[in-house]
Amino acid sequence: MRVLFCYIAIFTFLCLLTFSCKANSKDRYVEGNIKITEREFAATLNNLPDDMREKILANRAVFLSYIERLIIISEQDGNLIFFPVDRTRRLSATFRPADLLELDREGLRVSRNGMLLRANAVAALREMSNAAAREGLSFLIASAFRTYQHQRSVHNHFISTHGQEEASRFSAPPGASQHQLGTAVDFGPIALTFRDTPEGRWIRENGWKFGFSLSYPENFEEETGYIYEPWHYRYITREGALVEREFFGGLQFLFLDYLAEHKEFFRQRTL
Ligand SMILES: [Zn+2]
Repeated sequence: MRVLFCYIAIFTFLCLLTFSCKANSKDRYVEGNIKITEREFAATLNNLPDDMREKILANRAVFLSYIERLIIISEQDGNLIFFPVDRTRRLSATFRPADLLELDREGLRVSRNGMLLRANAVAALREMSNAAAREGLSFLIASAFRTYQHQRSVHNHFISTHGQEEASRFSAPPGASQHQLGTAVDFGPIALTFRDTPEGRWIRENGWKFGFSLSYPENFEEETGYIYEPWHYRYITREGALVEREFFGGLQFLFLDYLAEHKEFFRQRTL
């Protein structure tokens, strides 16, 4: 009897030991400057598709070092560089970046003079245009920064010509447009045909190297709220575009949502 009791005691002890080791492995901190346990980290990935979650978990230290860098970029920028603007997360009527530059004065090809973009987007556009020019390509910029008031008149125009429901599939209400950020660009022609132009194909392949990201991809109207717009790109910095491509399947809304949702938590845990 005593021997049996001993066996039970040892068995229970071993079970507890195994269980506590398992619990400990999940409570282990992920290496790097962000002090976060593996369990906490995994929880931030819950809403992502399985393949993305697995890739991030397999490269957790690298991923978190990128996140750390993106937080620094975001704080230095101070102009909502990664803010996921949409119908529910709107900009105020007075939001206007301070560093807007005139595109025609910066040597870029435009459909009309006087269009503006932020300095960081202009620098990236110039670099991208130069690289494309070496392959005989030339981007035409057809739309850039829009004020809140301008967006309101554009949106009202589309409602009057297409009706409220149809207009809302491709036109943002005031405050809900990425164009108010000063980092979104429409390349000409603003039409589905842009996708199959040499420039349209080139930017789809290479835009990320310069920090440009396709905002409204094909087959994601439900998630983004907009129809496929092959001409509309947003500058999200080179690092941002790299992380979006490597870990979020090149899907801007997933990347920006993730960052917006967890940025503050990661920031508080940064050593
Ligand atoms: Zn656009």
